Amino acid sequence: MENCIFCKIINQKIPSHKVYEDDVVYAFLDISQVTKGHTLVVPKTHVTDLFDYDEALASAVFARIPKIAKAIEKAFPEMEGLNMINNNKELAYQSVFHSHVHLIPRYSKEDDFSIHFGNHQDDYQSHELSQIAETIAKQVAEND
Ligand code: 5GP
Ligand code: ZN
Repeated sequence: MENCIFCKIINQKIPSHKVYEDDVVYAFLDISQVTKGHTLVVPKTHVTDLFDYDEALASAVFARIPKIAKAIEKAFPEMEGLNMINNNKELAYQSVFHSHVHLIPRYSKEDDFSIHFGNHQDDYQSHELSQIAETIAKQVAEND
């Protein structure tokens, strides 16, 4: 897609530090290395975000991820964990609107990466959780 920075990277119109490429995905270093080896895995097809995938593309893209994650782990054996992040839409911190998966190797608790899950176990009663689950389940069934 014209004017998409990741399409330009995939098509070699702008440079990147590639770590892997095949017919489905292009994987390269994030320009901002939150930790050493921070990699973006992007589908070669321009899809904006998760809501733009079909099952076949999602399967194909996800199928490549363990291979790349294991390669990062082998490259940097001092790695002690890895976060896989996929941001969808601006509110959820997406800033490039060509879908991508961040692979962020973790070496230390003192690095510059964090995710905060507040504890909200008491926010909903069981019957309210049932209602929420049912609402979603109905939509999943309708879209199957
Ligand atoms: P998002 O915020 O959309 O989840 O992540 C977008 C990521 O793309 C950011 O971490 C940002 O550093 C990275 N990024 C943005 N522009 C470029 C670029 O031109 N080259 C590379 N390698 N990474 C980029
Ligand atoms: Zn694109």
